Amino acid sequence: MISSIQALWRLMAGSRARYAAAIASLAIASSLLYIAPLVAQVVIDGVLTRGLATSSGMVQWGVQTMGGRAFVAEHLWLPAVLIAATTAVAGVFTYFRGRLAAGATEAITRRLRDRLYDHLQRLPCTYFDNAETGDLVQRCTSDVETLRMFLAEHIVEVGRAVIMFFVPLPLLWLIDPTMTLAGVALVPIIIGFSSVFFLRVRRAFKRADEAEARLTTNVQENLSGIRVVRAFARQAYECERFAGRNQSHRELDRRVYSLAAYFWAVSDFLCFSQVGLVTIVGLVRMANGELSVGAFFYFLTAVNMFIFPLRMLGRLVADFGKATVAFARLREILDAPAEAQPEHPEVIVDSRGLIELDGVSFAYRSDAPVLRDISLTLKPRETVAIVGPSGSGKTTLVSLLLRLYDPTEGSIRLDGVDIRALDRKDLRQRLSVVMQEPFLFSKTLGENLRLGRRGATQAELEQAASTACVHEAIVAFDEGYDTKVGERGVTLSGGQRQRLAIARALLQRPSVLVLDDALSAVDTETESMILTALAKRGGRHTTLIIAHRLSTIAVADRVVVLDKGRIVQSGSVAELRRQPGPFARLWALQQQDQPTGETRDV
Ligand code: ADP
Repeated sequence: MISSIQALWRLMAGSRARYAAAIASLAIASSLLYIAPLVAQVVIDGVLTRGLATSSGMVQWGVQTMGGRAFVAEHLWLPAVLIAATTAVAGVFTYFRGRLAAGATEAITRRLRDRLYDHLQRLPCTYFDNAETGDLVQRCTSDVETLRMFLAEHIVEVGRAVIMFFVPLPLLWLIDPTMTLAGVALVPIIIGFSSVFFLRVRRAFKRADEAEARLTTNVQENLSGIRVVRAFARQAYECERFAGRNQSHRELDRRVYSLAAYFWAVSDFLCFSQVGLVTIVGLVRMANGELSVGAFFYFLTAVNMFIFPLRMLGRLVADFGKATVAFARLREILDAPAEAQPEHPEVIVDSRGLIELDGVSFAYRSDAPVLRDISLTLKPRETVAIVGPSGSGKTTLVSLLLRLYDPTEGSIRLDGVDIRALDRKDLRQRLSVVMQEPFLFSKTLGENLRLGRRGATQAELEQAASTACVHEAIVAFDEGYDTKVGERGVTLSGGQRQRLAIARALLQRPSVLVLDDALSAVDTETESMILTALAKRGGRHTTLIIAHRLSTIAVADRVVVLDKGRIVQSGSVAELRRQPGPFARLWALQQQDQPTGETRDV
């Protein structure tokens, strides 16, 4: 709780002055609002009724200030104007309060969103392995909104309740202590009831909030995997699963709302009882000649003004509860350690593309090693293919090269420098990876390509696209390079996406190009054209190809066979074909299946 308040306080840095000004405006507006009924009381007691309070100092002073009894009696519009002016000025301050509080809160939430987004960009991959995207989205939207509401509305509302309650107390006491006691008699019960109640709401809210996160995750996964859902005719199952989660979310939400309905009913009863109590005590005291009409009017107005906002005090506890739940969920993201960066990164001036893996082992979970003692050197400008059955650790190896994960043992060097000593950005600029299912942003084709290099000219774009055999496909679109790609590039075929990603990687001018099954969706003819074009660029980069098709592997200077995370064979295609082992078996299998000389995927 304390650390949440401290974190919230830090977050408010830069907006605290505006917040303080909002509270000051609130205090002024609230004080002015109590002056209006006071004017009415003075007029009722000092001018209209000439009751027992006429002699009261405050009433006399009020009447004199307005010009004397006779004058006010003849100019009754004067107190009316005074009341209107006071409430108008109060209105101006209420406006400032709203503007200042909203301005401060918007600034805080904007900073919070920026920090969240920025931090998410720097979190290591292991974080995302264990997090659900939908849950993260829910935190960055709904939880931020809960916090914003708390800061913008609830804190101010509670501030208003406190100020509205305490401002008139001395005045009320001065007018009539007995009536004051009657006016606040039920206040402790109202605050106590709402505090207990809202603590229960907090628990209910947490459950509803988590259910909402599950719902968001469900939608996000379903939309991302919409093709898989359709392909496996899982729509009915998915709808059912969604309906189940939706139902449980609705029930938890309904619980929050029914608790709230119960609260409003009981607290309304308590508040009206408080007004009733003041009315009864006031009437009795008036009948006994102990209270003037004007004072009675003032008490009734004042109690009505403070009692209803006062029940909001309990809400502070609950809203603070909600906000702490939301804030704690946000802090879980913000407090997660970002990818470590070396303090004084080494800089490779002219990368040759020499990669050395030295006794590299890796495990995602400590009990299941994925790579074991891998030692491998990729000489500058060499083309090396890695083959191996699915799950043998090929993609993991690429992730280690990119430093998405760090080896649990051993080291990886680029141009003789341990990649842990390099700035990640620098490393990822020198090492370009094309994945099997490349991600394209909802931008134009040209903009997607320029992610490889921002300042690339149109001629450079076209050259890279030609090498990747995608230029012709691009210009076939009506808008050519300005064609917008739908979300995740759905308007492009898998093969086109892969070729676009290769062009994007080439634009980056890497010293090491990694193709991780990046030609799997491309037909063999186009694949051979791309490989030939890449070979013609020979000398520009070291190439690491992960592939299943022998036609892809055939271009490699050297082939490394991986099995269960170990290198089991290594050599040229010709050598490996002769050597008994997995590669020869793979080769034979593919040749057998393709009597025409073509190869097929394994
Ligand atoms: P390949 O690319 O050869 O098919 P991978 O490198 O993708 O193999 O996977 C190797 C092993 O690591 C597999 O057993 C896979 O289940 C596991 N694995 C891959 N990614 C993760 C991950 N993010 N978390 C935990 N295990 C993983």
